[in-house]
Amino acid sequence: MPHGYHGKILIVDLSSGHIQIDQHDETWYRTYMGGTNFGMYYLLRHMPPGADALGPDNVLTLMLSVLTGAPFSGQSRMTANAKSPLTGAIGDSQAGGFFPAEFKNAGFDGVVFLGKAEKPVYLWVHDGQVALRDASHLWGLGSWETETRLRQELGDPKVEVTCCGPAGENLVRVAAILNMRNRAAGRTGLGAVMGSKNLKAIAVRGSLRPSYADPAGVKQVAALGAAELKRNHGMQELGKLGTAGVVLSQEFAGGLPTRNYQSGTFDGCEEISGERLAETILVSRDTCYACAVRCKREVETDDAYQVKRELGGPEYETIATFGSYCEVRDLAAVSKANALCNDYGLDTIGAGATIAWAIECYEDGILTDQDTDGLALRWGDAHAMLAALEAMTFRRGRLGQLLAEGSARAAAQIGPDAQARLITVKGSEAPAHMPQVKRSMGLIYAVNPFGADHQSSEHDTSYEESSGARSLGWLAELGLTRPVPATDLSEAKVEFTLVTQYWTGLMDALNLCQFDWGATWQLYGPGTVAQVVNAVTGWETTLSELMEVGARRVNLMKVFNAREGFTRQDDKLPQRLHQPLKGGASDGYQVTEEEIELAKDLYYRLAGWDVATGNPTPQKLHELGIAWAAS
Ligand code: SF4
Repeated sequence: MPHGYHGKILIVDLSSGHIQIDQHDETWYRTYMGGTNFGMYYLLRHMPPGADALGPDNVLTLMLSVLTGAPFSGQSRMTANAKSPLTGAIGDSQAGGFFPAEFKNAGFDGVVFLGKAEKPVYLWVHDGQVALRDASHLWGLGSWETETRLRQELGDPKVEVTCCGPAGENLVRVAAILNMRNRAAGRTGLGAVMGSKNLKAIAVRGSLRPSYADPAGVKQVAALGAAELKRNHGMQELGKLGTAGVVLSQEFAGGLPTRNYQSGTFDGCEEISGERLAETILVSRDTCYACAVRCKREVETDDAYQVKRELGGPEYETIATFGSYCEVRDLAAVSKANALCNDYGLDTIGAGATIAWAIECYEDGILTDQDTDGLALRWGDAHAMLAALEAMTFRRGRLGQLLAEGSARAAAQIGPDAQARLITVKGSEAPAHMPQVKRSMGLIYAVNPFGADHQSSEHDTSYEESSGARSLGWLAELGLTRPVPATDLSEAKVEFTLVTQYWTGLMDALNLCQFDWGATWQLYGPGTVAQVVNAVTGWETTLSELMEVGARRVNLMKVFNAREGFTRQDDKLPQRLHQPLKGGASDGYQVTEEEIELAKDLYYRLAGWDVATGNPTPQKLHELGIAWAAS
């Protein structure tokens, strides 16, 4: 019997209703380990090139890893993959909570959805039993009500649910998949893929926890994390303030995106800070299965905005996109936007950034009252922002139809002036870490296969001389020994970007939480990752074997894009990021196009890819043991 996994992947054909179980041997599990790698294995085989992302040929995978559900901090996460309806490139997103661990205990390591159901359905997975059931009565419901009804219907309050909301059903291209009503696999619009397949939800419950090769070793890793939490001030602050705790440090560095990324400073930053959130509306801290950090927020407001704790509290990215991007300084309104996104099933980054883009276009006369159905979209107007969010979710009126397409497609309908205001890469809205201030973000935003992402490499500040012995020591374990300033984009920084992209690729293949597991400030560093994989599975992996697993993830996603016709030309930043910032500590900062093109040359070379096309070579795929992907 394997340790740490079941050796079983569910294949659900929604068109025919046929369900089968795919079994794989130990070599397969050790080669891919989980997450995106599992997903790519199926996507590249089952999806024809050029498939309509919202059609039945798209393939949606929800994958766990060999570590999911083991009792230590930061392992209860799942990865969703499909062709992205937002970008046409690979879609990839992770979410945590209790759903992933419960799914593992239900007896499987992941699920592949093919085809499209005739009418709404949900999948019920319980101790190795699987059934597709009618979900007509759930269609139209938000994530909270969907979870509540399914628990009642299945007669067990401990059933865990992941679902799409009305946004996914309405094929909004920034729709998310929601675990436990407040943990979003938000990026790249995969909620709309669920909606397009008439797949409302997956409900799971089980007691089939896999065995571990070395249970005492697993316990030791859990104890290591608990001990580290007691002495690691940064991790304690993450628990106390959540990711919202970085609002003020971003502002201090001039890196808090404001007015749709025109500036890196917001004079309302204190009003939307993690500290203010903790003092005013925080009612409780929440967690994911077995995690000691408890960084998730539960907030409540009784004012005009009425936010309930069940829908969670805003993360930093949400505070930025609905706060500083839109110049909204009302934390209750930002929390309301967060709660609506969680209930309706929307990516807070994609939705907030699309609205910020629309506000700028309206303020500059590019969007008219006719385009907005008379809604005056003004900087700082929280009511207008929330009205736009409602319109987007339900595709109401001209404004709703426009925003539901995401900012890049909306701008293409309006014209060049609207396109000049985009903050998107490959059509996906950028998160709230500014490349002008942390230069490697510019490179990773450009080259990352699923668009601009802040969790696809470590951040520049960890590689500065001043970042401390711990961070520099851990990065040295990855072979990174040439620290450089945050605004540097020389060869040393390009190497840092690629190597830590492989590292975060490994984190996502293992479905480890990047707040617990990292190469810089987290609870666990590179040295512990092989230790935990070995304790769970009984293998004798090394860090270098594991880094190849991370490299496979990056290469497989890039192969998918190459197949869809993406090349180096698509690895580019929006013009706005090449313009100097205005005001604050980053006044005048810019990242030039030449700088990015030069860094791309170095990056592709270092990755072993073709510099002209920016795509993997057959030789590189062969080296990584995934030569099959070349064909
Ligand atoms: S650190 Fe936060 S997000 Fe990560 S597993 Fe723990 S509670 Fe969940």
